[in-house]
Amino acid sequence: MDSFLDAQLAEPLLRGIAKAGFEQPTPVQTAVIPVALEGHDLMAAAATGSGKTAAFLLPIMQQLLESPAPRAGTRALVLVPTRELASQVLDHFHAVGSYSRLTAAVIVGGDPRNHQVNALRRNPEILIATPGRLREHLETGEADLSDLAYLVLDEADRMLDMGLVEDVFAIIQQAPAERQSMLFSATLHRRGVAELAEHLLRDPLTITLDHHRSAHPDIDHQVILADDPAHKARLLHRLLETADYQRALVFSNTRDGAEQAATRLADLDIRCAVLHGELDQRERKRVMGLFRDGTVPVLVASDVAARGLDVPGVELVVNLDVPRSGDDYLHRSGRTGRAGRRGLTVTLVGAPEWNRMAGIERYLGLSVGQVALAGLEARFQGAPKRGKPIKKATKKRAAKGAAGKVEAKPKTKQRLRDRKNIGKRRQPSNGAGAKGPEGTPAGQGVEAGFDPPKRRG
Ligand code: AMP
Repeated sequence: MDSFLDAQLAEPLLRGIAKAGFEQPTPVQTAVIPVALEGHDLMAAAATGSGKTAAFLLPIMQQLLESPAPRAGTRALVLVPTRELASQVLDHFHAVGSYSRLTAAVIVGGDPRNHQVNALRRNPEILIATPGRLREHLETGEADLSDLAYLVLDEADRMLDMGLVEDVFAIIQQAPAERQSMLFSATLHRRGVAELAEHLLRDPLTITLDHHRSAHPDIDHQVILADDPAHKARLLHRLLETADYQRALVFSNTRDGAEQAATRLADLDIRCAVLHGELDQRERKRVMGLFRDGTVPVLVASDVAARGLDVPGVELVVNLDVPRSGDDYLHRSGRTGRAGRRGLTVTLVGAPEWNRMAGIERYLGLSVGQVALAGLEARFQGAPKRGKPIKKATKKRAAKGAAGKVEAKPKTKQRLRDRKNIGKRRQPSNGAGAKGPEGTPAGQGVEAGFDPPKRRG
């Protein structure tokens, strides 16, 4: 399928696709849409940002349009792990479905129950739901899945992480066995995904085209070594001050870490907001609104809060801590480089996190460049047995390069230059495609692409 026209989608959908600005199908859409239109069950390794939402919505909408059933109840169910993801799927539905007469409703925890009951009574064809709340509505009889013909489990790996699988199984028991089911997951290798697939899918086709090792060709990955939290804070500040981005997302492994980082940045006059799991729905919406409309260009988030975020124009992701797993890394970095745009993920790596980062790089097959910010180089230079100590000559070159280029240049030019450097990958010196901390002796190829930190009062 080279174009959306090849899929022979109904005219209202083609108009919706054009309105959404989708000119060509993404690779995952090319792979999934024809197979799904044939009615196959499938499981697809597709990361956020790959276009997976339209990949499952379009064939479902097409099939619903082909066989209208005005008297039927809910015919399609999209289960997602988070409220944010649910509203993004609904946005997608509105974007591509605006010329169709299909209807959809969102059922998620945190929203008023009576509104949801009213929405369910209107019998939407498509339900987009988080498992917990939908299960409750099924138990009270407000929701009914006896007409269900299409089921999607989106971000199945997240569902597993968040312990939502029991709810998923309870929901599925209420649905007819005769249905088409699709499972999407950033990775199909995560433990538990195969078991889920076994319970949910019948003779599924496996689509691994958007395999995690090649999921994000548009993202550059960099590591900056750090000595301690205070050093990380200085590095983060410098990155946010000098990199060229419209919006940046900073991730912390913990809520406290996110809060502290946001407070520190605000003290340093960086406009930022914080998003974590403890915020109530209204507050989250407000924060997301500020970030989306550009009022705050920097959002500091914990993993839980950031699941499923889809904000266009995020060009920089900073991992203040090394994520707990390769999948978390993938989800975080997937916030940038979306739909053809380039992005950059920078991970600040302290000594205790070195091995974890090396593992993530191996797991994801990432090609990670190690960079240093001039004047903020870490004493820590990688695990002693794996990396060589930084060579004096390299250090000098780096310092000279930074000083020589930077001095007396106006800030706008610095930013341009910084942008160039920040996206540059370090070339492996041994020609063997060495990747990341383990394969790359520390100190070789260290770039000094940033100005010394500005001093503030
Ligand atoms: P998803 O992976 O479904 O979360 O989609 C990521 C982003 O890509 C969303 O902002 C979509 O609007 C956008 N997108 C999806 N499909 C296409 C397409 N064919 N062309 C351009 N953008 C797309």
